[in-house]
Amino acid sequence: MTDKAAPGPLLSVHGIRKNYRSGGGILEVLRGINFQLESGGFVAIVGQSGSGKSTLLHLMGLLDAPDEGEVWLGGERVDNVSATRRDRLRNTAIGMVFQAYHLLPELTALENVLAPLMVRHGIAAWLRTRGEAHDQARRLLDRFGLGQRLRHKPRQLSGGEMQRVAIARALVTQPRVLLADEPTGNLDEASGAGILDAICELNRRDGLSIVLVTHDTAIAGRADRIVRLAAGRVELV
Ligand code: ADP
Ligand code: MG
Repeated sequence: MTDKAAPGPLLSVHGIRKNYRSGGGILEVLRGINFQLESGGFVAIVGQSGSGKSTLLHLMGLLDAPDEGEVWLGGERVDNVSATRRDRLRNTAIGMVFQAYHLLPELTALENVLAPLMVRHGIAAWLRTRGEAHDQARRLLDRFGLGQRLRHKPRQLSGGEMQRVAIARALVTQPRVLLADEPTGNLDEASGAGILDAICELNRRDGLSIVLVTHDTAIAGRADRIVRLAAGRVELV
């Protein structure tokens, strides 16, 4: 169970090792990583391209499993849970945002934001709760300045708008932690600044716990704490 009253950090990883097989050899990407995020904290993970930032974030987001070590969320060990439990955690406790948005191209902005809630409920429950879900999704899109873009498809939106839809989709499940992988990486400076401000506000105003991966130290400077990955290990900055 994810217990709100659980003592200790909200999210932590212990002794994480992750290897990839490549061309007959073994690539040791993460070589004993320890990391923790307090509830309400905002940590940036930096490191050169290829240093394993995305690999680590994917392990925290339960998109992949470590070769060794443990991932804990809210007092529960989560790296070795069943597929059902993992999907449930990903649909309730963890919100993720990626550099390339990963919106569904055939769905409108509103439908993209609703998708995680449709997945969560069976059809009967969805029919019962969809009015409330629509209100919640619309409120979120409104908050991110997209109140006039509800029926737009992703191809009709700018990069910054697509990323704001992706953030709304990550938040509609009311996650306990937001994991963002280079969320401004595909954006021009002004759109990127808007996205970064929105993410900072989610932490400062709403108290959302955030892990932000970036290779840009100016962006990382907006977090409370910076952690650097180098040679498969963590350095505190
Ligand atoms: P970063 O996000 O810091 O740029 P990544 O975590 O994406 O780094 O990748 C770390 C290293 O692992 C890179 O050298 C990359 O080429 C390698 N890598 C990532 N994913 C795979 C994979 N699925 N198979 C093989 N090698 C991979
Ligand atoms: Mg990456």
